Amino acid sequence: MALVTTKEMFKKAYDGGYAIGAFNVNNMEIVQGITEAAGELESPVILQVSKGARAYANHKYLVKMVEAAVEENPQIPIALHLDHGDTFELCKSCIDGGFTSVMIDASSKSFEDNIALTKQVVEYAHDHGVVVEAELGTLAGIEDEVVVEAGKEAYTRPEEVEEFVSRTGCDSLAIAIGTSHGAYKFTAAQCTRNAEGILVPPPLRFDVLEECIKRLPGFPIVLHGSSSVPQEFVKMVNQYGGNMPDAVGIPEEQLRKAATLAVCKINIDSDIRLAMTANIRKYFAEHPDHFDPRQYLKPARQAVKDMVAHKIVNVLGSDHKI
Ligand SMILES: [Zn+2]
Repeated sequence: MALVTTKEMFKKAYDGGYAIGAFNVNNMEIVQGITEAAGELESPVILQVSKGARAYANHKYLVKMVEAAVEENPQIPIALHLDHGDTFELCKSCIDGGFTSVMIDASSKSFEDNIALTKQVVEYAHDHGVVVEAELGTLAGIEDEVVVEAGKEAYTRPEEVEEFVSRTGCDSLAIAIGTSHGAYKFTAAQCTRNAEGILVPPPLRFDVLEECIKRLPGFPIVLHGSSSVPQEFVKMVNQYGGNMPDAVGIPEEQLRKAATLAVCKINIDSDIRLAMTANIRKYFAEHPDHFDPRQYLKPARQAVKDMVAHKIVNVLGSDHKI
């Protein structure tokens, strides 16, 4: 199977009450870890590339690695998506360069400017058989070059979604209902603490999601900033010389609930970074004399694979859905 768009994946996910994982890729081990898990579990998957990933790894390397993963896993549909495209030129360059899906994130602009830029990208993308994700509302947090201070985020206004989708022609819509980018999603002031002293974030705004669904029946919704920041990895990082106080994410049961509703794409990036870093730190601590990158990248890749498999089965519900 060649790279596919997300059109059919989203239709099946919407009707089937599950979501497709969109995992960020930056290097070979990450591409392999994700696609080995998806391949074994017969789960469709979205590999997404940010502007930062392109700057780090080079567009051509990323596309060729993803193409290799497609060849190695012919049984599953794989889409290649641009995460947080911020200009028409960047989206065009990915559309021309083999991506099957792009996001244009003009959510920091005014409603009218967001519509104008999104529409421009949609017209070019659709002419080339590529689908477009747009965003309304602003998430807090840090993701590569996207930085929004806590307190400056804004929930999506459901009364705007119909007009936005019909005027832009976008294929899916990212909304802000309280998820957040990065491993430090919430300040202590926004949270309570559980018995172990771990921050408990405010619940997602399912009322906003339900309102959007009512106004956009059958339309795929996307959640960004949806890592769960598993505490086992945070503990491992801290145990082996790291320092990540108060790193918390979105509870998996809330994401599972969103996946059963109209949320068809759930973005996960920080959990990949954490899985790798925690395992590399552990490896270094236990084998101070080793220096072959293959020795520590192997368990890091395995940790990505195990984490992705867990998400596919327990959070997304996308296993055996090809
Ligand atoms: Zn994002």
